[in-house]
Amino acid sequence: MDCLFCKIVNGDIPSKKVYEDEHVLAFHDINPVAPVHVLMIPKKHIQSVLAIEPEDKELIGHLHLSLQKVAETMGVNEDGFRIVTNIGKHGQQTVFHLHYHLIGGRQLEWQF
Ligand code: IMP
Repeated sequence: MDCLFCKIVNGDIPSKKVYEDEHVLAFHDINPVAPVHVLMIPKKHIQSVLAIEPEDKELIGHLHLSLQKVAETMGVNEDGFRIVTNIGKHGQQTVFHLHYHLIGGRQLEWQF
């Protein structure tokens, strides 16, 4: 499968890892929009939130608990941060492997 993030999971493309276990991987975004910008992905290829199946419930829960650990590791858990997942064309998703952007390290704004 020609998926960039699957290649990162397999080690075919290098990444700056922040957290890894059997089921999930977190690594620095190559084009950070804030002092902290980490991507958290399930190792299993899931296209987006819309492709999550009932059998993935435990995995998605585990991913969120792992996000807590990453926030602590990156030192943003006290001041807060943002978790974003883009979906499809209007969401401007560019990599079609489920990923959560963990963004923080500065005051964020909310403008559309
Ligand atoms: P999306 O636009 O929400 O799909 O997010 C994809 C993210 O992947 C973008 O923020 C990119 O900067 C990031 N990205 C693309 N290629 C790489 C890479 O090779 N390593 C780390 N991050 C990447």
